[in-house]
Amino acid sequence: MSQSRTPFTLPFFTAAALRRRVTWLIRIRWLAIVVFGIGIALGCYFPAIHVQCKALVLILIGLVLVNAIYILLRDYVIRQHKDYLINLIVIQMVGDLLILTVLIHFTGGIESPLYFFYLFHIITAAVIFPGTRPYGFAGLAVILYTTLLGTEWLGVLPHFNFYEGVDITRYTEIVVFTWLIFLMTIFLSTYLAKNVTDRYRRVRTRLEFTNRRLQELNRAKTNFLRVSSHELKAPISTIQSTLAVIHDILHDQVDDRVLDMAARSMKKTEEMIALLNDLSDLTYGDLRRAGEFVETDLRELVQEVLQDEKITASAHHITLDAEMPKSPVKLVCDPDAIRKVLRNLVTNGVRYTPESGSVLIRLMDASDEILLEVRDTGIGIAASDLKKIFHEFYRTPQAKSVSSAGSGLGLAIVERLVDEHGGYVTVESIVDQGSTFQVHFPKEIVP
Ligand code: ADP
Repeated sequence: MSQSRTPFTLPFFTAAALRRRVTWLIRIRWLAIVVFGIGIALGCYFPAIHVQCKALVLILIGLVLVNAIYILLRDYVIRQHKDYLINLIVIQMVGDLLILTVLIHFTGGIESPLYFFYLFHIITAAVIFPGTRPYGFAGLAVILYTTLLGTEWLGVLPHFNFYEGVDITRYTEIVVFTWLIFLMTIFLSTYLAKNVTDRYRRVRTRLEFTNRRLQELNRAKTNFLRVSSHELKAPISTIQSTLAVIHDILHDQVDDRVLDMAARSMKKTEEMIALLNDLSDLTYGDLRRAGEFVETDLRELVQEVLQDEKITASAHHITLDAEMPKSPVKLVCDPDAIRKVLRNLVTNGVRYTPESGSVLIRLMDASDEILLEVRDTGIGIAASDLKKIFHEFYRTPQAKSVSSAGSGLGLAIVERLVDEHGGYVTVESIVDQGSTFQVHFPKEIVP
C-alpha cells in the first residue's frame, strides 16, 4: 500500500503572502515614522535630552521618501516581476537596519535608548523568514552596531551625547560590556523568536495538510453517497412498479393476505425511495459555482408549498396559512433547494402538530436579510434536543411516539441547503406548546 507523506513546504513564500508581507512592512514603517516624528518633537523640546534635531528631521524626511519609493517599487514588482517580491522584503529590512544605525548614531550612539529597536527588526525577520535567514539579519545588526560603537570609540565618527555631560565612549570597559550584552540580547531574541514562529509554522502546515485531507475524504464520501443513492434508486423503483403491476393483475385472483403483503412491500419501497431522495439531497453542494442560482421571488415558492401541503394539513384538521409582504421578496438562490427547505419545515410542522393545531409560514424582508419562518402549535422539542435534531437520523422520543414516518434527515438537509446559500437556521420551542424554525438568508451571498 502506498502512502503519501505530508509535503511540509512552507506556505509563506506564495506571491500573495509575500505581497501581504511587503505591504505590512510599509504600513508598520508609516506607523514608526509617526512615532519617530513625535519622538523628535519631544526630544528637541526637553533640554535635558541631547539630540541632533536637524539630523533627525532629515532622517525623518528621508524615511518618508524611502517608504514612498517602496510603495512605487512594490506596485512595479507586483506588476512586472513577482519573483522579486522577496528581494524587496530583504532590501526593506536591510535598509531599515541601516537607517536605524544612523538614527542611533545621532541619538547618542552607545547611550541611545533606540538600540532596542534592533529587536523589532529581528522579530520581524523571524516572522517573515523561515530557516536561518533571521540569524543573517541578527548578524547584520551586530556588524552595524559594532561598527558604530567602534568608530565612535576610535573617534573616526563624532560622538553625540544623549545625556548632558556624560560621554560613555571614553570608558572602554562600559563600551565592551554594553556591546556584549547587546550581542547576547540579539542572538537570544533571534533564537526565541525563531523557536516560536517555527513551531507556529509547523503546526499551521500540519493543520492545513490535515484540513485538505479531510476535505478530500469528505468529498469522496459525499460522492460515494451521491452515486450509490442514485444507483440504488433505479432497481428499487423497478421493484416498486413491478409490485404495483402484480397487485393490479392479481388483485381478484389471490388471497387477500398476498395482496396485503404486496401492498406493504410497495409501501416499504416507497419509504426507501424517499430515504434515497433524502440521501441525495444531503449531498447537495457547489451549486453556486455551477451557476444554478437565479433571482427568485420567494413568495411564489411559499405559495406553491402552501398549496401542496394544505391537502395533508386539512386531512389532519390542521390550519396551514402564510403571511407574506405585498411586494416581491427576491433572493438569488436555487429555487429547488429553497422549495425543499420550506417543504421539509412545513411537513415537520404538520407532522408534529396534533389535530386542530395550526402551522404558519411567515416571509419577512428585512434590510440585510430575508427571514423565512415556520411556526407551529405542536408537540415541541425539549431544550436538550434542540441541537441534536439537526444531526443526521436523529429523532426525538416524542416525535417517534407520534409518528413513525420520517428518516431524521430532513433538518440535516435543511441546514445544508441553507448553508449553501450563506444562511443559517435557528429554532425555538416549548414542549407541548409548539416550535418556531427561522431561516435567515443574507441578501448578499459572500463568495
Ligand atoms: P424527520 O424526518 O424525523 O422529521 P427531521 O430531520 O426533519 O426528521 O427532524 C428531526 C427531528 O426533529 C424530528 O424527528 C423531530 O423529533 C424534531 N422536529 C423537527 N421538526 C419538529 C417540529 N416542528 N416539532 C417538533 N419536533 C420537530
